Amino acid sequence: MSLAEKDKQYIWHPFTHLKYAEEPLNLVRGEGAYFIDDTGNRLFDGISSWWVNLHGHCHPYISKKVSEQLFTLEHAMFSGFTHQPAVQLAERLMAHLPGNQSKIFYSDNGSTAVEVALKMVIQYWHNLHKPKHTFIALENAYHGDTFGGMSVGERNVFNQAFGHLLFDVVRIPLPNKHNIEAVKEQFSAYCRTHDVAGFIFEPLVQGAAGMLMYEASYLDELIELAREQDVITIADEVMTGFGRTGRFFAVDYLEHKPDIMCLSKGLTGGYMPLGVTSCAQFIYNAYISDDKTRTFFHGHSYTANPTACSAALASLDLMEEEGTWKRIAEIEAGHHSCQVSLMTHPRVRQVRCRGTILAVELHTAEHTHYLNRAAESISEYFVKRHILLRPLGNILYVIPPYCSTGADLEHVYKTITEFLNQL
Ligand SMILES: *Cc1c(COP(=O)(O)O)cnc(C)c1O
Repeated sequence: MSLAEKDKQYIWHPFTHLKYAEEPLNLVRGEGAYFIDDTGNRLFDGISSWWVNLHGHCHPYISKKVSEQLFTLEHAMFSGFTHQPAVQLAERLMAHLPGNQSKIFYSDNGSTAVEVALKMVIQYWHNLHKPKHTFIALENAYHGDTFGGMSVGERNVFNQAFGHLLFDVVRIPLPNKHNIEAVKEQFSAYCRTHDVAGFIFEPLVQGAAGMLMYEASYLDELIELAREQDVITIADEVMTGFGRTGRFFAVDYLEHKPDIMCLSKGLTGGYMPLGVTSCAQFIYNAYISDDKTRTFFHGHSYTANPTACSAALASLDLMEEEGTWKRIAEIEAGHHSCQVSLMTHPRVRQVRCRGTILAVELHTAEHTHYLNRAAESISEYFVKRHILLRPLGNILYVIPPYCSTGADLEHVYKTITEFLNQL
């Protein structure tokens, strides 16, 4: 049996149509911003492997650090035990997180980081004997595939089978200069009519929704309002963290800082699964008690896995190098000039750009339809030109690893333009 046949025989792939999906590409090696497939074809990883990779594949420095950790302490349970990689990582993350963050809770992916945040908020109010259960979320939100994450996420085809099992959430539109007063009014109204416990949002960029973007100043106003209304704020930075928006965290653009933050994807540089939920001291304090029922009863077998923490530490070393920020700025500048050149293209409705994220939204329902029908052939179009992209509906987007060169990106921009020209 060929590898492809065995794959079909034994494996169920994520987000994959079982009937119409094309045969998956067989990747044999990673090298910087490129994959090499089993035919020797080189592919530029234009979406950083689902937004996780920061410094390129098989980075010699991270690989070395991970390998050293594997021969020192590969894993240990984290209740009643601790280890240097977890402590060091928490200490070093604190130096980058907003000043109000004071404790790190580890888990193992973005969905669990969100799940932990939601539970932390609900039990916070429970422990204070002021039970509140409603979350305010943004329209179009995506916060992961577990039940809590699906509940606060937009209801759509991805979770419709589970609709009646998800908890109720109230939603507000993305704020902009036209609707901000109305959105604030709606927020306050929900606080009067519902027992609002928390407000969760993807700061500045809603990734899975199609890289929808909004301004920091309006989010600032909402966070300020939440604080006035005694509502705990959760910034889901699973996608936006670690330089993606041009600063270390998207909340670095804000004046008012969230009470809780969720990190994952780029945390380990895209090497290993790891999640972090950080919180302000006042939240932690609500769990300190002689009463044992106030304990936060949550934990995963692989909590704070030392090998994953060592990958995160090595990735942080690279994030703290000046050269990385120079590349981030160069990618941002490249995206901007691509944005300017595509803005007036007849097939383009809007080009959005923030930091290292570039999104090209194509025009009209028929093209949406075209794209939906031909999503595979679009991927194929780019794969033939040595680029790995996966459009979200009618939105083509690029989130490259920071090690991508100017020439890599020029090739991507040029190929996107050619693709649009032949539509
Ligand atoms: C990807 C993502 C998640 C879920 O992370 P997983 O590691 O895939 O579970 C949650 N929130 C946001 C904003 C994401 O982009």
